Amino acid sequence: MDSTVFRTRSHGTPAEGVKDQYADGRAAKVWEFFIGDIKQRTQNYRDFLAGLLRQKGCRRILDVACGTGVDSVMLLEEGFEVVSIDASDKMLKYALKSRWNRRKEPDFDNWVIEEANWLTLANDISHLIGEGFDAVICLGNSFAHMPDTFDDQREQRQALANFERCVRPGGLLLIDHRNYDYIINTGQAPPKCIYYNSNHMLNIKTSVLYVSGKPRIVTMDYMIALDEENKDDPDISEFRLSYYPHRLTVFRDMLTETFSHGTKHTIYGDFKPLDEIKEPGFYIHVLEKKF
Ligand code: SAH
Repeated sequence: MDSTVFRTRSHGTPAEGVKDQYADGRAAKVWEFFIGDIKQRTQNYRDFLAGLLRQKGCRRILDVACGTGVDSVMLLEEGFEVVSIDASDKMLKYALKSRWNRRKEPDFDNWVIEEANWLTLANDISHLIGEGFDAVICLGNSFAHMPDTFDDQREQRQALANFERCVRPGGLLLIDHRNYDYIINTGQAPPKCIYYNSNHMLNIKTSVLYVSGKPRIVTMDYMIALDEENKDDPDISEFRLSYYPHRLTVFRDMLTETFSHGTKHTIYGDFKPLDEIKEPGFYIHVLEKKF
C-alpha cells in the first residue's frame, strides 16, 4: 500500500503536523557525515562568503538555517561573531556538540545557538537582534525547505520579512536556492555542487510534482555511501527531502517586494556574476538594505 502513496519525506517522518523534515534524525546524522569535516566546504565558497562579508564591513552574522552548523563554524573560524538558529533540534544538536567540543576557543565560547522558526523569527530572537545584524545568511538551499502551504507563498513572504527585520540598515541578506528553473525544465538537478567536495554522494534522484499544471514540490532522494572502503558492497544511506521550486524571477521579485525601494540586489550563479556562468547549480541573492 505504502508504495502507492507519494511520500515527500523519509519513512518515519510524520507527513503532517511536523514540518521538521529532519525530525527522524536520519538526514541529520548522514548530513553530518556527508559534510563531515568542515574543511569539505569548497574553498570557493569560503572565499566568496568571507570575502563578501569582509568587503562590506560585516562582523556580527545571523545564520538562520544553521542546520548542523557548517556555515556558522566556517564563519567563526574566519573570525566573525555568529548567532545561529534552526527549527530542527535534531540538526541543532550537532551544532551544539561542535560548540561544546571547541568551547575553549573564545570565538566558539561566544557562539550563540538557539531554536527558532522563520515564521516567528523576529519574536523568537528579539533579545538578540539589537540594532540588527550586519548580515543574515540563509544558505545551502535551505529556504526552499519551506513549503507553500496556502498556495500563495504567504509563509515564504512572512519568513523573508522576518529576515529583513533582523538586518541592520546598510546590512546584507544572503539567500540561495538551487537552479529550480533548470530542474523544472530538464527533470534533473545540474550535476555539480558548489558547496561540498564530498566523494560520498553516489546519486541524487530528482522528481518534480505538478499540481494543477504548476510545479509545486521537488523531491530529492539522496544516496550516500557511508563506507568508502568496501567499494563492492558499500553501506548506503538514503534519505528524501522535499523542496519548493523557486523560479529565479519569481523569487527575485518576492525579495524586491520585501525590501524597501532602493535596495541593491545582486544575483550570483555558483558565486560568479550571472553573465559569466551558464546553467549554474545554485543562485545566490545578495541584498543590501538601505541606510
Ligand atoms: N545551512 C546548512 C543547513 C541546510 S539544511 C547547510 O548548508 O548544511 C536546511 C535547514 O533549514 C534545516 O536544518 C532545517 O531544519 C532548517 N529549516 C527549514 N525550515 C525552517 C524554518 N521554518 N525555520 C527555521 N529553520 C528551518
